[in-house]
Amino acid sequence: MSSYPFRFVLSFIVMLSSHPVMSQSEHEWTREELLGQINPASNADFIVVSSNYTRKTDIYLREETYQAFEAMWKAAKDDGIRLEIISATRTWGAQKGIWNRKWDSPRFMGFEALERAREILKYSSMPGTSRHHWGTDIDLNSLENEWFESGEGLQIFQWLIRFAPEFGFHQVYTEKSQGRTGYEEERWHWSYIPLSRSFLNQYVELICDDEFDGFKGAEYVDSLKIIQSYVQGVQEPH
Ligand SMILES: [Zn+2]
Repeated sequence: MSSYPFRFVLSFIVMLSSHPVMSQSEHEWTREELLGQINPASNADFIVVSSNYTRKTDIYLREETYQAFEAMWKAAKDDGIRLEIISATRTWGAQKGIWNRKWDSPRFMGFEALERAREILKYSSMPGTSRHHWGTDIDLNSLENEWFESGEGLQIFQWLIRFAPEFGFHQVYTEKSQGRTGYEEERWHWSYIPLSRSFLNQYVELICDDEFDGFKGAEYVDSLKIIQSYVQGVQEPH
């Protein structure tokens, strides 16, 4: 039979290991964290997403987001719903790659510069302005709104609308018919609000339109009112 101190230590270890991570909803984020100037692969706050949840490698989430997603994934699985992460944390550099590729692609060539930025901004963020920088937001299953209109896609979307909020996840890019500005609807983009709310609040306090640089079309950030119209153009949950 083990001595009392030993059992005490053992139960303490069990308690620690089964305890969920402390919420970082009150955390003060650095400018680098707000702007995605981070490296999740070498940052202890991030966890690599298991191959149970994604077909991609090197996909990262903040630990608290990840634990909430795991709980949601399991609940969905019990209901016969298959959730698959197709994108999670993206760094400033990764977002710059996406943005500059679109800027130079034939699809957007017919637009003059300011209009080209507006077109790309229907579904993509400028580097430094993406919620994917924060490690709190995920894209699920398909990047096509239509996919969520029938069959498995519709079942998944209906499940998410009904149950995702129980796990802290909300669709932030909802239909724009009720006055939301910025990006078009994205049925695949879900945000872990307990953390992303603090990111958004601090972003608005600390970051200004006139400090963006280093990617194509950065000179239009000001006239597009990127922070007011796009970063803040989200449906906040009630
Ligand atoms: Zn997204």
